Amino acid sequence: MPDELKAHYDVVCVGGAMMGSSVAYWLSENPDFDGQVLVVEPDWTYESAQTTRAQNSIRAQFTNPLNIRLSQFGMDFIEHFHQSVAVDGESPEINFRGTGYLFLADDDDEFERLRAESVDQLDAGADVTMLRPAQLAERFPYLDVSQVAGGRLGGLREGSFDGWALFQGIRRRAVHNGVTFVRDAVVGLDVDAGRVRTVRLASGRAVESGWVVNTAGCRARDIAAMAGLDLPVEPRARTSFVFDCRRPIDALVPLTITPAGVHFRREQHHYMCGAVPDPDVAVDAADLDARDAEFEDLIWPVLARYVPQFDEVRVVTSWGGQYDFNTLDHNVVIGSADEVENFLFANGFSGHGLQQGPAVGRAIAELITYGEYRTIDLTPLGYHRISTGTPIIEHGVI
Ligand SMILES: Cc1cc2nc3c(=O)[nH]c(=O)nc-3n(C[C@H](O)[C@H](O)[C@H](O)COP(=O)(O)OP(=O)(O)OC[C@H]3O[C@@H](n4cnc5c(N)ncnc54)[C@H](O)[C@@H]3O)c2cc1C
Repeated sequence: MPDELKAHYDVVCVGGAMMGSSVAYWLSENPDFDGQVLVVEPDWTYESAQTTRAQNSIRAQFTNPLNIRLSQFGMDFIEHFHQSVAVDGESPEINFRGTGYLFLADDDDEFERLRAESVDQLDAGADVTMLRPAQLAERFPYLDVSQVAGGRLGGLREGSFDGWALFQGIRRRAVHNGVTFVRDAVVGLDVDAGRVRTVRLASGRAVESGWVVNTAGCRARDIAAMAGLDLPVEPRARTSFVFDCRRPIDALVPLTITPAGVHFRREQHHYMCGAVPDPDVAVDAADLDARDAEFEDLIWPVLARYVPQFDEVRVVTSWGGQYDFNTLDHNVVIGSADEVENFLFANGFSGHGLQQGPAVGRAIAELITYGEYRTIDLTPLGYHRISTGTPIIEHGVI
């Protein structure tokens, strides 16, 4: 990787994990774009990026149709992953496992809410089925359905994959295509007459840039502030646990979400789970500690209630992570702010950015190349809803 940088780049991505790499990938794959792309990333281990701390799952069951379309594109991308990212015929193994997601309802009101959402999901092309307790028990005999009113099950295009492979495949191909990744950090943006002119780096270097894309994950608000813009995205702690079960389940285990927000799925020979902490508040961006007490306090009682076999489990490992949580409406903020026209956001994924990475990177590349979205019109998810305070709520945040 070069120490020498050019004086000018057509595009600079601030952050080089999933989103920065995806923007770089799509630009460099597009024959209509012939510019120079620089991706600035301080942490080449990606140890503190959300991208490497995620639970690596993909679903169509969102309540916002745009989120459904973004993830459907992610599903297609995963399906054709090898052809899309191969370098010299090689690509990382994506290991997709189709299991579906299962949203459980404890009472009839909750069941009817899931059913109402399923109407829009089916309209958007998602494969979802409403199941009553007897049908749940038939498909998932390990579930105790005595206190359950039913559930909504997604098809086998929903499931989990190797998130590191997804990111690395995209990054590797972008490098192969000629994108420059530099190990450095953005520390300042010089804005003049409504445009970012110069990107200043921690090393003391500075480059001029045609476009600047904010792909800094949980630190996106700091980067926006450098351009004089406010972004209501804050780091929220999320702890992941992997556990063993003394009596393993001999059946398909979809990614199951209880009404209390506890979720679990199979992870190879173990199970993986997490929950929304209480209280769910902003934390320091450097605080990646696991909240280990959550397992006994919040998660395990819920697991054992729905799956009696989970009354005997052992935590194998846990790790801390953060969501880049959009406090306005839990959806991505994408595109430019009118005040600084060449500064583009790709932030605020609130826990579903890995699966949306391929589609969002492509959308940003279209904006830069053509001045408009060509495949999925993401205008409703733009910054104007932040500046005007008009949320587009996503209810399906896990
Ligand atoms: C516990 C957990 C579970 C999740 N599960 C899922 C899931 O199942 N499915 C799903 O789709 N998504 C999931 N996600 C969300 C997903 O991981 C994120 O939405 C996605 O990885 C965001 O990618 P990103 O590139 O925007 O951010 P990040 O991966 O956080 O990367 C941001 C990068 O910006 C860099 N950076 C920061 N400051 C600067 C600077 N000043 N200059 C240059 N670079 C900078 C950082 O070093 C970092 O590498 C989960 C997240 C967590 C925490």
